Amino acid sequence: MRIYNTLTRKEETFKPIEKGKVRMYCCGPTVYDYVHIGNLRTFIFYDTLKRVFEHLGYEVKQVINLTDVDDKIIKNSRERRISREEYTEEYSKFFFEDIKKVRVEPATIYPKATENIDKMVDIIEVLIQKGFAYKAEDGIYYSIEKFKDYGKLSGIKVDKGLSRIKADEYDKISVSDFALWKFWDEKDGDIFWETRIGKGRPGWHIECSAMSNRFLGDTLDIHSGGVDLIFPHHENEIAQSEAYTGKKFVNYWVHAEHLLVDGRKMSKSLHNFYTLRDLEGMGFDPLSFRLMCLDANHRDKLDFTMENLKRYEKTLNDVNTSFKLLERLSESNGAGIDKEIDAIYSAFDEALMNDFNTHAALAQFFKLIEVANSRIKDGKIGKSEKKNIIDKLRRMDEILDIIDKDSISQDIIDLAEKRKELRRKSKWGDADEIRRDVSNKGYSIVDLEDGGYIIVKRRKYAM
Ligand SMILES: [Zn+2]
Repeated sequence: MRIYNTLTRKEETFKPIEKGKVRMYCCGPTVYDYVHIGNLRTFIFYDTLKRVFEHLGYEVKQVINLTDVDDKIIKNSRERRISREEYTEEYSKFFFEDIKKVRVEPATIYPKATENIDKMVDIIEVLIQKGFAYKAEDGIYYSIEKFKDYGKLSGIKVDKGLSRIKADEYDKISVSDFALWKFWDEKDGDIFWETRIGKGRPGWHIECSAMSNRFLGDTLDIHSGGVDLIFPHHENEIAQSEAYTGKKFVNYWVHAEHLLVDGRKMSKSLHNFYTLRDLEGMGFDPLSFRLMCLDANHRDKLDFTMENLKRYEKTLNDVNTSFKLLERLSESNGAGIDKEIDAIYSAFDEALMNDFNTHAALAQFFKLIEVANSRIKDGKIGKSEKKNIIDKLRRMDEILDIIDKDSISQDIIDLAEKRKELRRKSKWGDADEIRRDVSNKGYSIVDLEDGGYIIVKRRKYAM
C-alpha cells in the first residue's frame, strides 16, 4: 500500500503500528448546520480510506469526532432559545442521514467533544506543567514558540518573538498562540464546564488531540481531513499531542482536496453553495454525487458542475442497467475469458493500493462493465464467465458501492407482470398507465427485445 504523506511530502509504503490493524482518526463535522457537498466529498473519502484497508484485510478502527460546542453553536442555539444539546442533536441527525444517503458506512466511533472534556482538561494540565501552555485573561493558550517542530506539517515558519509567519500559501494568515481553553463570558450563557482549569469551554484544536488519544492511543497510523485543515488545525493538533505524549502523533497524514463549483470556491455569497438536500431537491440520486467523488482522486480538486453531475447520473444508471441485464443473461457452455477478467480485477486492486486511486480503480470497473455489455449484445455468456464477472463486479462494489441493492418490492413486480400481460394482449393504453404508476413509485420498466423486461431505479437525469 502506497500513501502520499502530507508530512513528508512523499509517497511512502504503509507500515501499520500493529500488524493487521489500522488506527485512523478523521476530523468530523461541526454540527451547527447541514454539511455542504464539499464536506461530503471529504466524508466519502474517509469511507473509501476505511473500505480500502478493510479490502486489503486490515482491521480498521476509525474515529470521526463530532464538534458539538463552538461559537456558532452557542450563538445559534441561544438565538433559537433551545439548549446546545437539542440544537446539536438535530444537526447530528441530519449529518448521519446525509452520509447514509451517499452510502458512507458508519465509523467505529463518533465521539462528541462535550463527552470528552475530562480528557481535554488532563492534557491542558500537562501542557501547563511542561511549560507549553500559559494562562491569559480570557483563556489558556498554547505557546507555539515552545514547540520546536511547529510548522512541520504545513511548512510554515514561525518568526521567533513575532508570532507571525511568512510562507507562500499562508501569507495573509497570522500565526499565533491559540486557545486551548476559553474562560466563560456572558455571551456563552449557560454553556460552560466547571473544571480544575477553570469555568469555560474547550478550544477546537484540543478536542481532536483529546479524542484521538483517548480512543486510538499516543500514535496513530492515519490522520485525515480536508486540505483546509492542514493549517492551523492539524499543525496545532501535532503541537498539542506531541508536547503532551512526547511521542510522534501521526505516521501518515492524508488530506483530501477541495471541491470547487463551476471552477470557483463554493460560498453562499457566490450562490454556488449546495447541500445534498439541494441536489436531491433538483431530483438527483445522491449516488450520482458519490460516483462523481470516486471519479476524482482525493489529491485533485473536484470541479463540481450540474452538467457533470447529470453525466454521472447517466453513468450510474447505465452501470446498474448493465448489471441487471448481465444477471438475467442466458448461459451457454462456451469458454470464457477468465484471464482478462482477473487481470482487470488485479488492476483495480493495484489502483487502490496506489494512494487510493479511485479514478483508476473506477476505470477498471467500467472496463469490466464493457466486457459484460459485449456479452449482453451477443445475447449469451459462458456460465463460469458470468459467475466470474458478477463476482468481481460485486467485490469491486464493496469499495465503490454504486450498484443498486434495495430489493424491488413485490407490488412493483406484480405491476410489471400485469403490464407484460397487457402488452401481450396489445392493450397499450392500460400498459402505459401501469408504466406511469411504477414510475411514480420510483422505478422504470425497461423492455427488452426478447419480450422480457428489467426494473431499474428511476433516475431523473438518466433519461
Ligand atoms: Zn480535528
